[in-house]
Amino acid sequence: NRLNTHGYEAYVVGGCVRDMLLGVSPGDFDLCTNATPQETIACFKDFRTVPTGIQHGTVTVINQGVPLEITTYRVDGDYTDARHPDGVRFTRSLQEDLARRDFTVNAMAYHPQKGLVDLYGGRTDLEKKIIRCVGEPNLRFTEDALRILRGLRFASTLDFALEPTLVSAMYEKRETLEKVAMERIFQEFTKLLCGKAAQRILEQHGQVLSSVFSVENFQVAFLSRIPSCAVLRYGYLLKDHPNPKEFLKKLKAPNELIDEVENLVSLQNQKLPTTLFEMRCLIYQYGISLVEQAMVLFAAQGLDCEQANEFLKEIRNNRLCCSLKDLAVNGQDLLTAGFSSGRELGERLTALLFAVMNNQVENQKDALLQYAHSL
Ligand code: ATP
Ligand code: MG
Repeated sequence: NRLNTHGYEAYVVGGCVRDMLLGVSPGDFDLCTNATPQETIACFKDFRTVPTGIQHGTVTVINQGVPLEITTYRVDGDYTDARHPDGVRFTRSLQEDLARRDFTVNAMAYHPQKGLVDLYGGRTDLEKKIIRCVGEPNLRFTEDALRILRGLRFASTLDFALEPTLVSAMYEKRETLEKVAMERIFQEFTKLLCGKAAQRILEQHGQVLSSVFSVENFQVAFLSRIPSCAVLRYGYLLKDHPNPKEFLKKLKAPNELIDEVENLVSLQNQKLPTTLFEMRCLIYQYGISLVEQAMVLFAAQGLDCEQANEFLKEIRNNRLCCSLKDLAVNGQDLLTAGFSSGRELGERLTALLFAVMNNQVENQKDALLQYAHSL
């Protein structure tokens, strides 16, 4: 409304239009406009605006705490590096802006008075559940190789089929994926992996990714049964990978994810605990939340986790001690009780913890101090 009353036009565009037509609530709303970035900023003088990607035409307007990205209609310049346009040119034409977009389902715009603008049959493709390039796939992938991965990503998240000429172009151009920054590959691949149809897409078209990673080390057989969460899906995908850490490092994944996945992979190579004590040891080593996640992975692969889950429940409900921080004594207590400091102190604490986990002594301060003397 603001842009309209200032004599410009503005549409919501791309992912949010697609999601609304699918009846899904959009993650965010992107707008496009014929106003230049400076004109947009001037329209929203009384709002906080951030020049997010001003050279590409994007201004973020913060509306009651909610960021709205408003991008000036633009045409991409020539592509020489298979990834970035050499420059962008602003245009006053919505048609031109829609033409640069990747897939028909992502190339629709909507205006509350003027309705839906769908120049490439995006709505029909949504109904037919097809990912189709805007324009000639070979050309579009030559311009920007990331679109290859994005095609797979949307086919996975939406559970759509890929249009045949797009598929051929994808295989033909797959080597050019090498030119794409790893951070962007990671973002799109993670979305692909967490998608509804990740298993099907990786089974059918995993080879497309072979120029960026060793897909033969992927585990995909039960992927669709794994909850759609990055740690769990990577944990399963890489379960038989020779070096999950190196793989994720190369992808420039966040360190926290790398650590969690590495531990999940190693947990899956352990046998399921058959006693409460074994379960407590596992929790001591990995922490309860990762152990619980590993159980989800075991269960998805058809292993009988009933007993292990009972142990977990017992540990949770009774707050059974499985870590030094839950132990009723600490190093200071031992020092006060007359034990000498140094390496033995830590070893003695650990010994106490294992005695507690093994039910040899109660997790109670006096009992523990007495037991410590007997060690
Ligand atoms: P999501 O819901 O995952 O955010 P999205 O469709 O909004 O999906 P974005 O990556 O946020 O995806 O991109 C926004 C829009 O910009 C897309 O819908 C598409 O129209 C366009 N777009 C994004 N990346 C490209 C690209 N590499 N080539 C062409 N168009 C693109
Ligand atoms: Mg988006």
